[in-house]
Amino acid sequence: MAEVLIYVGQVDGAVRKPTLELLTLARRIGEPVAVALGNGAADTAATLAEHGAARVLTHDASEYAEYLVVPKVEALQVAVEAVSPAAVLVPSSAEGKEIAARLALRIGSGIITDAVDLEAGDEGPIATQSVFAASFTTKSRITKGTPVITVKPNSAAVEPTPAAGAVEALNVTFSDKATGTKVTGRTARESTGRPELTEAAIVVSGGRGVGGDFSPVEALADSLGAAVGASRAAVDAGWYPHTHQVGQTGKSVSPQLYIASGISGAIQHRAGMQTSKTIVAVNKDAEAPIFDLVDYGVVGDLFDVVPQLTEEIKTRKD
Ligand SMILES: Cc1cc2nc3c(=O)[nH]c(=O)nc-3n(C[C@H](O)[C@H](O)[C@H](O)COP(=O)(O)OP(=O)(O)OC[C@H]3O[C@@H](n4cnc5c(N)ncnc54)[C@H](O)[C@@H]3O)c2cc1C
Repeated sequence: MAEVLIYVGQVDGAVRKPTLELLTLARRIGEPVAVALGNGAADTAATLAEHGAARVLTHDASEYAEYLVVPKVEALQVAVEAVSPAAVLVPSSAEGKEIAARLALRIGSGIITDAVDLEAGDEGPIATQSVFAASFTTKSRITKGTPVITVKPNSAAVEPTPAAGAVEALNVTFSDKATGTKVTGRTARESTGRPELTEAAIVVSGGRGVGGDFSPVEALADSLGAAVGASRAAVDAGWYPHTHQVGQTGKSVSPQLYIASGISGAIQHRAGMQTSKTIVAVNKDAEAPIFDLVDYGVVGDLFDVVPQLTEEIKTRKD
């Protein structure tokens, strides 16, 4: 059976959820082989094996932390040359897309970014993308080289499927290019205790309708273990940081559940959330365009509706 390489985004041995989702998708195309790099790489093996990795190729070197993405690209290239995979799957984070693009260029392959689904095809994997502000769904296939595909978080369920997960050391020698851009400092963002916006299974967003008060949105998010998003109107007003903006000029999210409160549903906002699996909106204007795309909508004042929803969720959890 053909093998499929998966780039493992890991921090100190902890495997991120989007990587586990890639293992689910990879099994549709072939046998998953994970590539884990950096500090803690070998510690990822058990988790990756539990989720279907037949092999785990690891390499640790200080260069992964000390320099920008090129060392990771070079290691992944070594893995591609060693395995000759049917495809390379990378999570669609900003770093993941940079790694994938540089890898595709080096190995002379085509690339597809931000896939939301993946299936096996007679002539190679077929990726589904949501394009033009989510107004079209396309299916495409790479026709040149080893397909390199980045996949958005929440595109597949995490499915524990035990496999061998045999750990093998990858033999990597870095070129001069790998150490061309040194990281001179790192400041960790203050943790909100909430999940990362682009990876969260549930996102609760607030728009201009919150009038500057995000507390009902945050309380609902916390009752659901969700991330908080914001429309550009809310961000431009200075009510929430730009890192939380969802949309064309913000982040693209694809959670299982997206709850929009006080958001009208402008095309530029939809562009960043329309691939969410279930969409719920609370808006006091029954004619708001957001109601055209929702699965469930509540016409009402968010300051009445959202706290009731939060209370109901808390009651049911108790
Ligand atoms: C090039 C470009 C890029 C853009 N990129 C983005 C982007 O990335 N993300 C983005 O979001 N926008 C983006 N925009 C802006 C976008 O066009 C809209 O202006 C913006 O999304 C509107 O935000 P909003 O829905 O919060 O505000 P509004 O459109 O003002 O809607 C507010 C809604 O809240 C409702 N409301 C008010 N009070 C209440 C209440 N108490 N309870 C319930 N409902 C209430 C109103 O009925 C209304 O529907 C972009 C625009 C351009 C031109």
